[in-house]
Amino acid sequence: MILAANFKMNHTRASTRAYLQKLESIDKGDVALYLFPPFTALDNYDTAVATIGAQNAYCAQSGSYTGEIGLEQLEEFGIKTLILGHSERRHLFGESQELITKKFAFFKEQGFTIFYCVGETQEVRESGSTELIYSYIEQQLEGIDVAYEKLIVAYEPVWAIGTGKTATTEDIATMLEFLRTKTKRPLLYGGSVKPQNIAQILQVPECEGALIGTASWNVDTFMTMINIAKE
Ligand code: PEP
Repeated sequence: MILAANFKMNHTRASTRAYLQKLESIDKGDVALYLFPPFTALDNYDTAVATIGAQNAYCAQSGSYTGEIGLEQLEEFGIKTLILGHSERRHLFGESQELITKKFAFFKEQGFTIFYCVGETQEVRESGSTELIYSYIEQQLEGIDVAYEKLIVAYEPVWAIGTGKTATTEDIATMLEFLRTKTKRPLLYGGSVKPQNIAQILQVPECEGALIGTASWNVDTFMTMINIAKE
């Protein structure tokens, strides 16, 4: 079971430290924890409770890429885990599949664990066509090595991210079954996961964990979800 906390553009360096300190008091059982703080809170954290990853990075060692961080900056802190293809990168910052594919190839070559996000928009979902949803997701898998041994795939319907709307367990099951035909790697769900719904979501066949945004920002809430996931 995997639970990942995506801080997005929340928390500071100081509050991330305090968060981790509190998190260390938990008995996480068999749950593998990942924490994705903002760039300014990345550090060589001396912690065994969670693996620290970056929310994004550019596919170069270093160079003239204003506003980006690359391999050199991640290596300084021993970061070997990365989210790629998050819907906020795709839709708010216009990351193309081509760019995401380039990033994937680069960080795969560097042996990174990659949390790769896929998910349909509200418009595609409302088209009512399962075929359309499948082909949308297939496009997001184009150019991605779905057999990569350090790949974790998160199904994150765009309309469910940060909106409080969660996909039904039936819809999650259908989509994870579809993704299972594409990859043997772990499959997660993400989209308004919270203490009230995490138990049902984690019971969906093929669901091996959750990528959690909003509900992970408060450490007590995240710990509540870890305790539920442990059961
Ligand atoms: C996310 O950012 O990956 C996410 C799932 O966010 P939220 O839990 O807020 O919907």
